[in-house]
Amino acid sequence: MAVVQDLPKFKQPELPKFQIRTPHSGLEMTVQSMTIADEEQLKTSAVSSERIVSMLNQITYNCILPKEAPYDTFEKFESVCSMMDRTTILYGILIASYGDEQTFSTTCKNCRKSYEVKGSLSKNISMNMYSGKAPLVQETREVELPVSKYRAVIGLPTLRDERFYAAIKGVPQDVLRKADSYLIVKKLIRPGYTMDKSTGEEISKDYMIDNIIEIYSNMQSMCPQDRKAINKVWLEEFGVYKVDVVIPSKCPQCDTVNDTYVDFVHELFRLSE
Ligand SMILES: [Zn+2]
Repeated sequence: MAVVQDLPKFKQPELPKFQIRTPHSGLEMTVQSMTIADEEQLKTSAVSSERIVSMLNQITYNCILPKEAPYDTFEKFESVCSMMDRTTILYGILIASYGDEQTFSTTCKNCRKSYEVKGSLSKNISMNMYSGKAPLVQETREVELPVSKYRAVIGLPTLRDERFYAAIKGVPQDVLRKADSYLIVKKLIRPGYTMDKSTGEEISKDYMIDNIIEIYSNMQSMCPQDRKAINKVWLEEFGVYKVDVVIPSKCPQCDTVNDTYVDFVHELFRLSE
């Protein structure tokens, strides 16, 4: 009778994990380290903004465990998370993938010399979480624009909005970063009028614009004061809820104290190289 040799059994090694909470949608999540396969995806130079955005969202989603409601599918994930929520998830992924202590390059605001600074991502974090009942992603505010008299309905851009915008415009990364003022406008209400056929009087009739291309083209011809009015309300109502990592350091040349703001997307691409 042949002796049956047991094949070796293996325990699945666990990837490092980190807990985060998203500032806008208020989701508690466990994220785990990227895999080397994820990292290799980051290294492939993506040609279009749309590809970069899709890849970033997909890698972010890969690292969330477990994938449960309200983000049990990738599509749902993209519609419940704001761009700042993704930034926060990436913060967790960075720590799980590369560790808490990192070396950053910084430039002195006084003598303009560059130097390296070491710091902890988790010890230098400041968070301001939205604490309303419904996720802030679902909320909107209306702003009357001082010059055009349009009314703008503003809110948080979701990952879906961002990817949609990147796809239709074919815009490069730097333009996409400045696209916030179009992406935060969910609707423009243009005041208009019609004529009453019997009396000949003007009757007010608004025109609703909710297509991002039309929003973009309407805003292109507005006065900068209108955009400032939008940005002001947006910053007060939405922009204050965020996660920042600021690493303080003293310049070795001139002793000036500098603050280094960590850009998680930038760090993700830098560390994966
Ligand atoms: Zn200096």
